[in-house]
Amino acid sequence: MTLQNILPWIQEAHQNGYGIAAFNANTMEQMQAIVLAAQAENAPVIIQVSHRALQYVGSGNEIRGLQYMAAIGKVAANSVDVPVSLHLDHANEQEVLQAIALGFTSVMFDGDDLPYAENVAITKRLGEVAHAAGVCMEAEIGEVPKPDGAPFDPNAINLTDPEEAAAFVAATGVDLLAIALGSVHGLKDKSLSLDLDRLQAIRQHVSVPLVLHGSSGVNNDDIAQGIKLGLAKVNIATQLNKAFTSGVRQVLAADGELVDPRKYLGVGRDAQMAEVRERLRFVGASGKA
Ligand SMILES: [Zn+2]
Repeated sequence: MTLQNILPWIQEAHQNGYGIAAFNANTMEQMQAIVLAAQAENAPVIIQVSHRALQYVGSGNEIRGLQYMAAIGKVAANSVDVPVSLHLDHANEQEVLQAIALGFTSVMFDGDDLPYAENVAITKRLGEVAHAAGVCMEAEIGEVPKPDGAPFDPNAINLTDPEEAAAFVAATGVDLLAIALGSVHGLKDKSLSLDLDRLQAIRQHVSVPLVLHGSSGVNNDDIAQGIKLGLAKVNIATQLNKAFTSGVRQVLAADGELVDPRKYLGVGRDAQMAEVRERLRFVGASGKA
C-alpha cells in the first residue's frame, strides 16, 4: 500500500483499549524489518524517524536525511499490504514542513525549548499545514527527557499536567498528544514505572489518543496498563536497536573472517523483525490491519 495517515487506526485502537506501535528506523534494514514484521502480523504500523536518524542518514544534513527516509519509506510501505505510516519524530518547524512536502504521513513538532505561548502558536500553525495535506499531527506537553547516556534525575522530570494538556490540545488542534509519565528516552533496561494515576487524570481532561515515548525503559506491566488507559501510540526504539545489534554481534563474534555486510546486516534485520513481531502482539496491534 502507499503510505497512509494512520490516525483512523490509532483512533480505533484508542476506542478499543489496544495500541499501535511506532518503531524507529535508522537504516534501510531496520525499515525493512518493521514492515516485514507488520505484514507477518497483519498489523498497521508506524515507521518512525528521529532527528538523529536524519543527521545520520543525511551525513549531517537533516533535509537530505528526510529525502532518503521518505524515498525508502515509500518503497517499504509499497512492499507490503498492511497500512504503514511514515512519522517524523521530535522535529523542528523547518523539518516538519519539509517532511510534509516529501510525503511523510505523520509529524511531531517538538517545541519543548520554547515558551508555552510560542509552542502553542507554532504547533497550531504546523497542524493546519499538516491537516491540509492529510497528515497526522503530534505534539508533546511535559517532557520525556533525552539524556543521551548522561545520568538523569527521575524526580526532576517535567511530568504532564492534566489541565495544561487539555488547554494545549484545545489551543493547537493536535491529533495525538505525547505526554510525560516518568519514561525517559534511550534506556536499555525496562526499569521505570509510569505515573498511571496521572495518566487517568489526563485521560479525564483530554479526548485525543495519547502517546508514550521512551517505552523501552518502562516495565511491561505499566505499558500494558497504560495502553488500556489511553496510550494508543507506543514508541519503541532502543529495544529494536538492542535486538538488531545483538544479532550482528553474534555473527561477527562467531566469524572473525567475515567481510560481507549482507551476512551480518541480514542477521540483524531478522533479529529485529522477531522483536517487532513480539511488540506488535504485545500492544495488541496484530490482526488489526
Ligand atoms: Zn520521543
